[in-house]
Amino acid sequence: MTEAAINLDESSLKLTDLVSAVGGVDVSYCYQCGKCATGCPVAYEMDLVPTQLIHAIQLGLTDLVYKSKTMWLCAGCLTCTTRCPQEIDIAEALSTIKILMTREGGTPQVPDVLKFNRSFVQNLNWFGRIYELGMVGMLKLRTGKFTQDMAMGMKMLKKDKFHLIPRIRGGSAVHQIFKRVKKQEKP
Ligand code: SF4
Ligand code: SF4
Repeated sequence: MTEAAINLDESSLKLTDLVSAVGGVDVSYCYQCGKCATGCPVAYEMDLVPTQLIHAIQLGLTDLVYKSKTMWLCAGCLTCTTRCPQEIDIAEALSTIKILMTREGGTPQVPDVLKFNRSFVQNLNWFGRIYELGMVGMLKLRTGKFTQDMAMGMKMLKKDKFHLIPRIRGGSAVHQIFKRVKKQEKP
């Protein structure tokens, strides 16, 4: 995403143009072959499979697109992107929709995913790498689901998958990157 793209007058753009301007993905080339949806490992959980979501973007159905669960359930595996005969970066288009929607103050249909993403990024900013136990703590505070996945957490702790003390390495360099990105994103 470029700084110039962020500063565009977004209110005057159609959804297809907006996704193109902000995410650099032109979904207008999609001819609905369905290859993205048939390869998607989480399509069975989605309300609109990737093909349908791309079509809704083309039609400018902003409300339908923003209220979809699809982009929040996307695992970012890029299978759709690599399968698309039109070389459309579908995964990037889905990420762009998340950015546009949250920027406009929309509420995600799967709010825990946004909470997870925020906990992950905050953790990275603080420690320079992921400190799993700290990230789980942040996530639990955000979701309020303190006992969920407790059994699995204990198993991971026993197998030494969680470190009790964070291993901070390159923290200040990563923190500087975050600061630079924040500065660039300011209107
Ligand atoms: S990147 Fe997302 S939408 Fe594409 S195949 Fe993977 S999970 Fe499905
Ligand atoms: S694979 Fe590409 S062309 Fe086919 S439906 Fe998906 S986005 Fe459209």
